[in-house]
Amino acid sequence: MTTRTKNQSAAVLAGNHGFSLISDEKLLQLYSAMMRCRMIGERVRVLLGQDKAVKDDAVGQEATVVGVTADLLAEAVRIGDAIVRAAVRGADGTACWVATEKEADYRMEMKPMGPHLYDGCAGPALFLSALANVTGDPQYRDTALAAFRSLNLLMASLSGPEWLAGQGIGGCFGAPSMAYALAHGSVLLDAPGLLAQAEQAIDTVARMNLDAEMRANVFNGLAGAILCAIAVHRLSPKDHLLEFASACGRRLLALRQPALHSLRVWPVEERSLTGLSYGAAGIAYALSALSAATGVAEFRDAAAEACAYERSTYSSEVANWPDFRASADAAFPFAMKWCHGAPGIALCRIGSLAALDTPDIRADIDAGLCATLSAPPASTDVVCCGELGRAEVLLFAAARLGRPELLESARRIAARSVSTASAPSGYRTIPAAGPCHADFHRGLAGIGYALLRLSSPNRLPSVLAWE
Ligand SMILES: [Zn+2]
Repeated sequence: MTTRTKNQSAAVLAGNHGFSLISDEKLLQLYSAMMRCRMIGERVRVLLGQDKAVKDDAVGQEATVVGVTADLLAEAVRIGDAIVRAAVRGADGTACWVATEKEADYRMEMKPMGPHLYDGCAGPALFLSALANVTGDPQYRDTALAAFRSLNLLMASLSGPEWLAGQGIGGCFGAPSMAYALAHGSVLLDAPGLLAQAEQAIDTVARMNLDAEMRANVFNGLAGAILCAIAVHRLSPKDHLLEFASACGRRLLALRQPALHSLRVWPVEERSLTGLSYGAAGIAYALSALSAATGVAEFRDAAAEACAYERSTYSSEVANWPDFRASADAAFPFAMKWCHGAPGIALCRIGSLAALDTPDIRADIDAGLCATLSAPPASTDVVCCGELGRAEVLLFAAARLGRPELLESARRIAARSVSTASAPSGYRTIPAAGPCHADFHRGLAGIGYALLRLSSPNRLPSVLAWE
């Protein structure tokens, strides 16, 4: 196994001159200078006998942030090592992990991971592919390839119309989510065979009768299929991938129904949801991306209408969009997560800009980012519902909007999680108890991937935006 040091991770950071207007090397020098200034200030205050209690905490926090920022790559490596150690290797060259699931009767049950990106072996396979690419360490490449082998065997044995219908066709659950991981794994590992398997995974869904599909959302429905097919098309520009995405888009147009102010959106059990994973924001994002890829204005217009609906629900008092998943009788909560609420809505609007750049969209982005930046710490670290999800949204915004200060805010959130966790087993995953949570959206693979991106922002795609 390769030995890694803080100097190595600092060297990688020093070599990264990402999109930021200030290079990482210069930024660390600036932090170092800021800290020295503050320490001199502290000494002056002591010498003059002034009360310094208020400033002590700020200096300590800044030291933690600087230290951890320089070490984000080393922390991603520690997480990668924990995931590799927890892998169950098969004699047939496969690798899988044990997943902990809460059953309907609230018992916790341990079972082998499925194949999906959200909670299956596609997630750790993608993270380890990225880690192999960044570090060059062969153990990550070997385990990633073994995990993709598990994924392909699971797809071959399980994929059929009934299985697909039950599992979804989205960007988190379903064959398109696996295609997304396979396609990027192909590039990161320089393994062309994985890209062909990604196309096959999309084709599996393309053979379904989309006229019967009722799930519109990004999570397990048509909008997620569009985002994944477009992502695979970027790496393998074949017509049939865009044709499939367009067929999903046409089905989305047909599924719309009038909601508030007669604006047409996609009802779920008579509620027209907001947000990224099940709501209007995610579906509008997919339709915008489809319009940008195909030039079809109808998809862009439907996206604009969905955004207008979502805007009409915005609460300026709370400075967020309500989460309509709750009972109609209860007061609606306001989530602050990637999956639901302001952070995810900001990400979707930023992703939509290529097709939909209006003052209203820009105002939504400002509102979503402002809410994300001012939110109190989340109760978990995971990318779906927790701290690293918010950090990823800010990192995505920093890159797409050319706002390097948001990268620093993202790194501060990550630093808070890393310094609190102290070891891979210390991260607050979902569920909280059980063995190594290797999955992407609720476990360590997503946390590790976010830390990798924060240490090398230009090198890896945003998985949370299906780049
Ligand atoms: Zn979530």
